[in-house]
Amino acid sequence: MTKIAMKTPVVEMDGDEMTRVLWVWVKDKLILPYVDLKVEYYDLGLKHRDDTDDAVTMQAAEANKRLGVAVKCATITPNEERVKEYSLKKQWKSPNGTIRAALDGTVFRKPILVPNITPSVISWKKPIIVGRHAYGDVYKNAEIAVPGPGKGELVFTGTDGKEHRVLIQEFKGPGILQGIHNTERSIRSFAKSCFTYALAEKVDMWFATKDTISKIYDQTFKLLFEDEFKGYAARFHAAGIEYFYTLIDDVVARIVKGEGGMLWACKNYDGDVMSDMVASAFGSLAMMTSVLVSPDGVFEYEAAHGTVQKHYYKHLKGEKTSSNSMALIFAWTGALRKRGELDGLPELVAFADRLEAASLKTIADGVMTGDLARLASPPAKQVVGSEAFIDAIAARLRG
Ligand code: NAP
Ligand code: MG
Repeated sequence: MTKIAMKTPVVEMDGDEMTRVLWVWVKDKLILPYVDLKVEYYDLGLKHRDDTDDAVTMQAAEANKRLGVAVKCATITPNEERVKEYSLKKQWKSPNGTIRAALDGTVFRKPILVPNITPSVISWKKPIIVGRHAYGDVYKNAEIAVPGPGKGELVFTGTDGKEHRVLIQEFKGPGILQGIHNTERSIRSFAKSCFTYALAEKVDMWFATKDTISKIYDQTFKLLFEDEFKGYAARFHAAGIEYFYTLIDDVVARIVKGEGGMLWACKNYDGDVMSDMVASAFGSLAMMTSVLVSPDGVFEYEAAHGTVQKHYYKHLKGEKTSSNSMALIFAWTGALRKRGELDGLPELVAFADRLEAASLKTIADGVMTGDLARLASPPAKQVVGSEAFIDAIAARLRG
């Protein structure tokens, strides 16, 4: 059998723990037998990030910008325990944060639906795609632990030397203070990425903030979205989709009562929280695809979940694990499909479709990992381990 040829390499960003183990099986058993895979490989495993003083993360992000399409494994964001566990030089920043900032991208998360897993919200019939702004707000904040009485102020000094100053609070005793920011450029990029994605997927787009309370910060998001939408309104109309703005609490109430099928654009924190809610209500974090899209059309496909640390420790002890590789598989198919579209390789696009279909069929046939078996109706026919699940998909792919 001749393998499917590629033109441009995909940027491959390897990761940590259980997902690093699954990564190899996914490549070896599901992709390499069919595709003459071209990759530019970057090892974002924590050890190598530490060895390179995290330079490898920035190199991977630069490669992503240069080549256009990347696929990323889940990676450890080190905390104090990890610093000890891996004897790190320092508590390196989240690679996802570094890559998001480099690409100025928006993260879109879309659940993978299968007929035998019913969403916990019974009205949900179609995927709810969460588009998360990936820059600023509380993720790039400055904080002060206020020790005692005093004045908390917000100060901006322009390059012209002009000062803007507002009082936040007169403290009578100890407290806390936080400063956050965003930029007009990033908010406009966020809006453009979302409008572009909604048009590509032909779904309505909803956006919400708390502009009634935050009359400058959140209101700016609302106004910049309105302004950017002018450039998309005609195309939205032609596609029969709409842009709907409301308040964040109102949108939450509507989402829970609706049937889904929209792109829900969320500010950074809202997106962090709501994407996990949507994912768990649709079944499992492992049934969620995630793609970072920059306004100039650079794509990074990843899994929405972490490195599945607990399963990895079991794996190291030689115990059987049942980790679900669906999101990792869909990260690869997303990247290969996009590469195929950009390079005019219909065979590669068709392969991505076939691998997704074989994966979905495996679960629909009742063969699944433990996380899904807990939710399946009718009940699973076969609850399989991490590697056996990938083997079951491989068997269906061979067809
Ligand atoms: P996690 O890896 O997402 O796992 C949390 C729990 O969710 C697991 O213990 C497991 O539940 C379940 N789960 C997640 N993915 C699964 C899968 N594929 N198959 C089956 N079950 C799955 O989150 P975490 O344990 O909080 O974080 C572990 C590490 O991941 C951390 O170091 C964190 O920094 C990193 N992280 C990375 C990313 C990323 O790179 N995208 C995102 C989030 C976190 P049960 O134990 O009940 O089976
Ligand atoms: Mg989160």
